[in-house]
Order: sequence, then structure tokens, then C-alpha cells
Amino acid sequence: MSDYEDKKHQEAVCYICRRPESKAGKMIRIPNNICICQDCMQKTFDTMNQGSFPYMDLSGGMPNMFSFMGGMPAQEQAKPKKEKQPKKKKQPELDINHMPVPHIIKAQLDEHVIGQEHAKKVISVAVYNHYKRVSMQAEDDGVVIEKSNMLMIGPTGSGKTYLVKTLAELLQVPLAITDATSLTEAGYIGDDVESVLSKLLMAAGNDVEKAEHGIIFIDEIDKIAKKRNAHSRDVSGESVQQGLLKLLEGADVEVPVGATSKNAMVPMQTVNTSNILFICGGAFPDLEDVIKARLNKHSSMGFYSDLKDKYDKDYNILSKVTSEDLREFGMIPEFLGRLPIIFALEELNKEMLVRVLKEPKNAIIKQYQKLLSYDAVDLQFAEEALEVIAEKAIEKKTGARALRALLEEFMLDIMYEIPKDENIGRVVITKDYIEGSGAPAIEMRGMPQTFLADKG
Ligand code: ADP
Repeated sequence: MSDYEDKKHQEAVCYICRRPESKAGKMIRIPNNICICQDCMQKTFDTMNQGSFPYMDLSGGMPNMFSFMGGMPAQEQAKPKKEKQPKKKKQPELDINHMPVPHIIKAQLDEHVIGQEHAKKVISVAVYNHYKRVSMQAEDDGVVIEKSNMLMIGPTGSGKTYLVKTLAELLQVPLAITDATSLTEAGYIGDDVESVLSKLLMAAGNDVEKAEHGIIFIDEIDKIAKKRNAHSRDVSGESVQQGLLKLLEGADVEVPVGATSKNAMVPMQTVNTSNILFICGGAFPDLEDVIKARLNKHSSMGFYSDLKDKYDKDYNILSKVTSEDLREFGMIPEFLGRLPIIFALEELNKEMLVRVLKEPKNAIIKQYQKLLSYDAVDLQFAEEALEVIAEKAIEKKTGARALRALLEEFMLDIMYEIPKDENIGRVVITKDYIEGSGAPAIEMRGMPQTFLADKG
């Protein structure tokens, strides 16, 4: 048996993440010869607060940590059994004193989402205010805090969906993602607007109370802009905006459980949408022209008259968006009025795309490195190789979305060839390899660097 195999057989491996002790650090040993790394143990403790807002109600009882390990002896679970209270006397669940403050929310978003500093700041403050509003609703001092529904504008692959997903994960609230293009006015082919609530209810495991504190992300919202010069009935545009108004505002809505359309066979539940946070997102193509036209009109008047093409090279033009521009684009004023927070995400440039590849907590290259670490192979990427991948992604014009597919294409041969030879200790993905003019650099265990023969 080779040294490597010997090592593989003897080394303690984490029962949860399967990392060996040499990678994961000192293991905690528990009965039945089970080892758990410190990271997983920490995660296990973190799940103790599962099912409710983290940082809140830490006294909420300890879930069975063995359930996290899958199939371990189940001790008597100290699962907090919520007593069903009459709906009207519901106490606010969220404890304002233990809410993550905006800079903490932003710091956690920073671990996943690259760039988009302004968007992350806005979203952190809005979410903080939203849950503050939810928890303070019981006070009756006449001051009503408005809902912080948001409208996010940004090109494809700039991280809109990712930002919302990350947020919902770190707040541990249910999230429903839906596409505005699938919605139509009630009675027409397509989903009613209420279907977004069915999805949320599903994400909350049919727990109405949980769903009522969730987040709904409606993507491609620009596709339901009012159709200009429409002669037929606008069932998938303006009417859908109209239909969404009451959900955005807050209403009791009858929602089919386990289905996206109402019919006699489907049971219904009433969901109140007042505390659901709605986030709408869209690329709004050509909105830049609307903004430029407004800015140019402004600056070409009278005393401050300016050059007409002043804004043509302004890459940050979307950040100057106002609700006036969106109205011009085709969103109805009542709809915009219910989305008080409007902000833009920037297009990811080469440098940001390189960072997306390597920096996020769950970065794509970290995933490949982890996969090969199980074969005890150290995988590295030359900085120039990452730059070439970023350049190729930019050509595809789908932002960070193109990165994974591109990398998968280059990594297929590596993932196929490397495990064949257990003497390989290190692989460096070079610029030449990405450009198709060379091979990755390979280092054998205890031997100087060689090059992998060109794949034939
Ligand atoms: P869209 O803006 O079109 O909704 P997504 O959020 O779906 O784009 O992004 C697609 C993928 O690209 C995400 O799953 C994520 O992995 C990656 N990504 C996009 N933007 C970023 C970013 N700013 N930071 C890190 N990863 C990103």
C-alpha cells in the first residue's frame, strides 16, 4: 500500500463534511468511533437556533444535534413545541435587542457577494428596518413605519438573486423566488399573483406564521412594464402590476396550499402579507437611455446647459435612476409607490469577476480545490488564468453566470485525468492551458515540476 493510501485509510475523517484531520484540523471524537471537525461542530451548535431568526430567542430550546449528523441515535429532542395561539393575540416573535444590526448583516453579505457595496448597504438597512417594523407593530403610538419593499435594478448575472438568497439564508427566513413573466391576470393562462404566496408557504413548510415573516423575490419585474400602444388587453403587464398591489401593501390573501392555482380540490389558507418583505428585481434594458434623456434634458436647459453626450460614457448611469424614469419605462405609479427603496447593482468588471471566482466563502475554485483535496492533490490557479476566464465570461455578456460553465469546461479533463495517477501532488492551472496553447503544470509528490502531456 502506498504512503498516500495508507494515510487515507488511517486518518480520521469528519463524519459530516468528510474532510480528513489534516485538512479540517483537530477532530472531536464521540462514541461509536465518530469524529467531527471543529467547523461542523460549530455549525451544529449554530443550528440550535434553527427555525427562528438567528441572533434572536437563543433561549428557544436546543434542537437535536444528532439529527444534523444523519441517522445518529436520537436523544429526546428538546424541540420547542410552539403552542398554537389564537391568531389575533399573536406576540411579536422578533426580539429587537438581538437583531443583527445593518453593519453585521452587510459583513455577512460581504463573505458571499463581491462588490455591490451600495446595494449591500441599502439592503442591510432596509432588512433591519423591516424586521424592526415587524417586531414593533404591537406598539400603538400612532407612528406607523412603512414597509421596506425594494426594487433592485441590475444587469444579468450581477448578483441580484444571489444577494436575496444569501440574505434569506443568513436570516433563516423562508424565501420564494418567482419570475414575473410567469404571472398573468387572474383567469388567464399562467399563474395568478397569489401563486407567489403558495411558493412562500411551501418554502415555510406550510407554516403560515413563518411564511408571514418571509421574503418574496420577484425577478424579471421589468417584463411586466406597461405595454406602450397596446391595443389588446394587457393581461401580463399592467394588470399584473395592478394585481400585485394588494400583496405589496399588505392584505389577507386566500392561498392554495401545495398548488399554484386555485381549484375546488386544493385546500386554502389565509396568509397576511403585511410583514412579508417583497424584493423585485430586473435588468430593465434601455432604462439607461431613459435616464440619460432625463439628465440631458435637465442639463441642456438655460444657464447650466451642458454637452449632450455628457452621460454617454457614464458606466454608473443606472445608479442615478429615479421613480420618474421607471414610470417612463412602464411601471405604474401605484406599483412604484409600494416599492419605496430603489437601488442599482453595477455590472461586474474583469477584476470583480476574478474575485467572484476565488473570494466568496463558497467560491467555485474553492469547491474544485476541496474536491481534489480528497485525492490529496493541491490545486492552484495562476492569477493570469483567472483573468482569461473572466475575459471570456465578459464576452458572453451574462455577468458572473458564465463563470461556472466556463470553469467546468476547463476542469473536466483535470478532474478526469488527475485521479488516475496517485503520484500527482500538485496541479497549477496556467494561462496557457485556459487559452488552449499549453498544459497545466503538474508536480509529482517529491519530484520537480513537470507538464501534463497535451490532452489528445
Ligand atoms: P442575477 O443578477 O441575474 O439575478 P444571479 O444572482 O443569479 O444574477 O447570479 C448568478 C450567479 O453568479 C450566482 O449564483 C453567483 O454564484 C454568481 N454571482 C453573481 N454576482 C455575484 C457577486 N457579486 N458576487 C459573488 N457571486 C456572484
